[in-house]
Amino acid sequence: MYNLTIAHLYPEQMNIYGDRGNIITLRQRCAWREITTTLIPVMPGSSIDWQSVDLAFFGGGQDSGQALIAADFVEHQAEPLRRAAETGMVLLAICGGYQLLGHYFLTHTGEKLPGIGLLDVHTVGSTQRLIGNLLIEANWGTGRQTLVGFENHSGGTFLGKGVKPLGKVLAGHGNNGQDGSEGAVWQNVIGCYMHGSLLPKNPHFADHLLELALQRRHGASATLSPLDDQLELAAHNTMVERLQH
Ligand code: GLN
Repeated sequence: MYNLTIAHLYPEQMNIYGDRGNIITLRQRCAWREITTTLIPVMPGSSIDWQSVDLAFFGGGQDSGQALIAADFVEHQAEPLRRAAETGMVLLAICGGYQLLGHYFLTHTGEKLPGIGLLDVHTVGSTQRLIGNLLIEANWGTGRQTLVGFENHSGGTFLGKGVKPLGKVLAGHGNNGQDGSEGAVWQNVIGCYMHGSLLPKNPHFADHLLELALQRRHGASATLSPLDDQLELAAHNTMVERLQH
């Protein structure tokens, strides 16, 4: 019997465009396979045993929401979270959460929010927001590689040498609307701009994350049984077809 421990970073301050749906998707895809999950909400000031966490999720937020928790994130979570990430903990961060995994986010009003520097990226805000549907061709391995989502951010993120992009933009803006890249990856830490929610419409990506987490916890032979993803893939394929034209 498999089990996974999932941490949800700042669920009250950092949850826009239904990002919580990613947690629901992860847990439901486990439940369908009789994998038990324990959910740990990471609230301001929380002391978390990050070594026990298999998969973490950090959603997006308005600049004001990010300002509420940025210093707390650096002070209380940065170091133990980094150690867990170095040993393969899976972390998915969307938009505002992604920005706070980088070195800093300079908002369009000139406020410099500190990040934890786990991803070698930095973000600079602009008065021109990057908004719309987003389609990317990712490159995490085998199988279906398209991801669909929705972006809405003022911050443009620029990648350093320590990360690789999650994929290349086929439609939409991505990291910064300039270099055609979307997201950043280091170890099993993935940041991207894809709200949606992301995982319900990209079940292959949800399973990729779950498999990484499962194999870290239960060994390389741990695998996920297949699910009937007809509905989820119909949603995915509809967006791919619309955005490709
Ligand atoms: N506040 C950040 C920005 O506007 C993140 C927005 C978001 O999470 N959608 O860039």
